Amino acid sequence: MKKTLAFALAAILSLGMLSGCGKQETTNEEAEAPAKEQLIMGTNAEFPPFEFVADSGEGIVGEYDGIDIAISKRIAESLGKELKVENMQFEGLIASVQSGKVDFAIAGMTVTEERKQSVAFSDTYFVAEQVIVVAPDNADITCAADLKNDKTVGVVLGYTGDAIVTDDLQIPEEKVLRVSRGIDAVQEVKNGKLDAVVIDSATGIALAKENGLKIVEDKEAFAAEEYAIAINKDNTELVEAINKVLAEMKENGEIDELAVKYNG
Ligand code: GLN
Repeated sequence: MKKTLAFALAAILSLGMLSGCGKQETTNEEAEAPAKEQLIMGTNAEFPPFEFVADSGEGIVGEYDGIDIAISKRIAESLGKELKVENMQFEGLIASVQSGKVDFAIAGMTVTEERKQSVAFSDTYFVAEQVIVVAPDNADITCAADLKNDKTVGVVLGYTGDAIVTDDLQIPEEKVLRVSRGIDAVQEVKNGKLDAVVIDSATGIALAKENGLKIVEDKEAFAAEEYAIAINKDNTELVEAINKVLAEMKENGEIDELAVKYNG
């Protein structure tokens, strides 16, 4: 059965070649300039200013943009490869690094002990913390502990904010709304359906600004979080190459410039 199929395929292919001589030449010409090898980056482009799909501003509309995208481009450039972006759910990133579906994941990802069990992390390139997004006239929520007073809280599934609300603050399940994009939770605060959202600082500030909401900080309750790039544990070569690029970008001020450019 297999042989017959292979034979049939070979026949079709050779027929195709015979009938399409002109085309054949073009293909050969293209083949002479080999395409650059791809470097596949995994992200969740719902996390401005780190990764988003540009809809206005300086970026090209419809293209991936942000701090992490710019860093990834530099990494690809330094390796002489073409960057390919795989946009997916944040929840799926670690598994994709482990399975080799992507070469690395960059998504404002906080280094945690749990994630370290599954992937290797590069050096840190950004430090953030969680913030609370509330309605502009909200006077009840002034610190993290206030969320325990019967408040409804939105988080993004699988983010560190989810772990903090669930495990550290122990907000009862029925009071927590888990969504897959920060903007969806923030919209619910705007609509008055949620009291608050716990989310990473740069993203929370950006989303609050866009939607006319307010930020509440609580540096005592929310520890600093270090963002790093997740790489397959077997690929020490890539860890080193990425660390080299990050070191360069920190030293020559590029990371700071990106933070100012995208973060304001
Ligand atoms: N820093 C948070 C985390 O690692 C959120 C990351 C993100 O939303 N892209 O869980």
